[in-house]
Amino acid sequence: MSRKLRVGIVGAGPAGVYAADILTKSDLPDGFDGVVVDILDRDPTPFGLIRYGVAPDHPRIKEIIKALKRVMSNEDIRFFGNVNFGVDVKLTELQQFYDAVVFATGARRDRSLNIPGLDLDGSYGAADFVYWYDGHPDVSREWDFQPHAESIAVLGVGNVGLDIARILAKTADELLVTEIPDNVYEGLKKNAAKDVHVFARRGPAQVKFTPMELRELSHSPTIDVIVHPEGFEFDEGSMEAIRAAKSQKLVVDVLQNYLAKEPSGAPHRIHIHFCQNPVEILGEDGKVVGLRTEVTELDGTGNVRGTGEFKDWPVQAVYRAIGYYSDPLPGLPFDEAAGVLPNDGGHVVDIDGAAIPGVYATGWIKRGPVGLIGHTKSDAAETIRMLLEDAPTLAAAEQAEPEAVDRYLDGRSIEFTTWEGWEKLDAHEVALGESDAHPRERKKVVERDEMVAISRA
Ligand code: NAP
Repeated sequence: MSRKLRVGIVGAGPAGVYAADILTKSDLPDGFDGVVVDILDRDPTPFGLIRYGVAPDHPRIKEIIKALKRVMSNEDIRFFGNVNFGVDVKLTELQQFYDAVVFATGARRDRSLNIPGLDLDGSYGAADFVYWYDGHPDVSREWDFQPHAESIAVLGVGNVGLDIARILAKTADELLVTEIPDNVYEGLKKNAAKDVHVFARRGPAQVKFTPMELRELSHSPTIDVIVHPEGFEFDEGSMEAIRAAKSQKLVVDVLQNYLAKEPSGAPHRIHIHFCQNPVEILGEDGKVVGLRTEVTELDGTGNVRGTGEFKDWPVQAVYRAIGYYSDPLPGLPFDEAAGVLPNDGGHVVDIDGAAIPGVYATGWIKRGPVGLIGHTKSDAAETIRMLLEDAPTLAAAEQAEPEAVDRYLDGRSIEFTTWEGWEKLDAHEVALGESDAHPRERKKVVERDEMVAISRA
């Protein structure tokens, strides 16, 4: 007798949705006549990082939502939003409803940086700022822009560092064409930044950002990009990095173009500094007044060593964009060093390295917070291949009827949202954008209660 394979996916960002897509399109092993997938998320809305990580002035990347929507409209896939894994539902409970559970929970907080001064007023983590400007319901609605903060430091030269620098250097009015909510627009009007200094601890050939994102910095008429010359003496490791990857060569070319360019006199400047390792955030009366860096030099391998020379930069705010880190998941093992669910390429494994039956990982919680959105597709393909190979040996869910999940959530008074609910909220946000004094494609609703109420109406 055959049955449907029941899979629960925790996390409705691109990693989770791609996994669902691949599952529903795959050939199933003998013994299964279909697959049904439920995707759960603690946000009331689907699309995770695309809605709450991609910067609002990147509509091209947000277009990925169109493809994810097509996947989610498959009738074999259901969405349960506003359900917090570990609080509203635990792994043992999910295992009652599903033959297999896939974790695609991503990485939502900042990697820690161990330097003095982190607690000063004006010291911020990138993740919080991104959540704020992207209108995430769980962060404060006010951003504490200091009226005197005209010079700002951004630590880290990945794409998040560039996003932060660009949003800080643009005027609020430039962002009025985007989906930013009113409170973010009002907040950004208080941003006094004129000079945004981005610091790399290594050289130009070691940056993590990508050429298109770097070029885009100069598209704003209010921004001059000023690349400072220190660090452009390439060592053998840097030459090797440039030869090995076309995109790295392109990035270095773009940096050299900026280096050679005279500033146009635009009112805001993004400075990029190489070979400056942040060692302390300097404070006075509890507020940031500067950043101390140690000058570094390339050591021949593409890594750097400290020179013992220190520089103080008068800045009034510091944003750390040194990478994300995943939250541990209740009831599951966690690899603290890598910040991932320990896994063998798909199966989650216990501390002895043995696979935990029916439990899988995909996306950033599987391989760490690196790679562009498209990379999560190949990741999901690997995980789902393993899951399907295991399927004949997986214990069948004890409560296999789909309504069991709704009953469980209702029984706990969890105000979950559904795909139909998202469609209502989506239409509402589009209407808000159309009717705005500055008409645009969408304007986001921010408050969780409001999102849930509109979705469940
Ligand atoms: P990332 O690409 O890993 O960059 C982190 C940066 O922080 C690196 O420059 C790293 O330098 C630096 N760093 C790490 N530890 C440091 C320390 N202790 N002191 C000083 N600097 C330190 O991380 P991300 O920017 O968070 O991006 C995450 C992923 O999302 C990436 O794959 C990115 O491309 C993607 N993303 C893409 C977009 C887009 O628009 N396409 C936008 C946002 C994010 P080292 O190299 O020296 O370690």
